[in-house]
Amino acid sequence: MNNVFYNNKLLTGVNQAAISLKEEASKIMEFQGNTRGEMLAANINYIEFREGKESVAYIERKLEELGFPVTIRKFKALKWYPESLSVLIVMVAREIFNWADQDIFDMGNAAPKSSLVVQLLMRHFFSSRKSFEAMPKYWRSNFDFGELEAFGFDEEKKSFVIRINGYKFHPIMCIYYAGYFLRIAQFIIKSPKIEIEEKKCAYGNGSYHEYEIKWQ
Ligand SMILES: [Zn+2]
Repeated sequence: MNNVFYNNKLLTGVNQAAISLKEEASKIMEFQGNTRGEMLAANINYIEFREGKESVAYIERKLEELGFPVTIRKFKALKWYPESLSVLIVMVAREIFNWADQDIFDMGNAAPKSSLVVQLLMRHFFSSRKSFEAMPKYWRSNFDFGELEAFGFDEEKKSFVIRINGYKFHPIMCIYYAGYFLRIAQFIIKSPKIEIEEKKCAYGNGSYHEYEIKWQ
């Protein structure tokens, strides 16, 4: 695996808040916005890979306990599902399996690998810059809300920036999407060492989430 870096000081604040998962779940489920089924399916596959076959039944049971009964096997890759459900599955996995930030990061980092939408977009381009320029389109193919801006692509400085507007489900997803967009960068940039850091955050010093990607 490539070396990854993520500044996770934000999540510490979340843990300290000590809000129960049930309270958090009800809040999260109020947010609007949809994502593709392949995102949920990728997360479930990752949970199964990490925690074994029976782990999915634990997730289902917990979701039901929280008041959101879902049959996890039925996600269709290109159908739309609430992003809130996707977030809730990540949070339930963290609670049940006692995952650390790095596990959430790794889960996000694994997700694009099985994405049809990512493969379709990435296959079209032969240069890093072209793939980079397609990233906003990529967001719109995967989410029916929010917006991704990609800018500052610099082959000499070896960095670029992505900014996500209109995404505010839960701070745990800042970690998840750091892993996620690192993977997208790993597809776009041919380098053995790529790092991502969230420089601005809608839960802290900004009205959006801004990630800086750097490589060697
Ligand atoms: Zn953030």
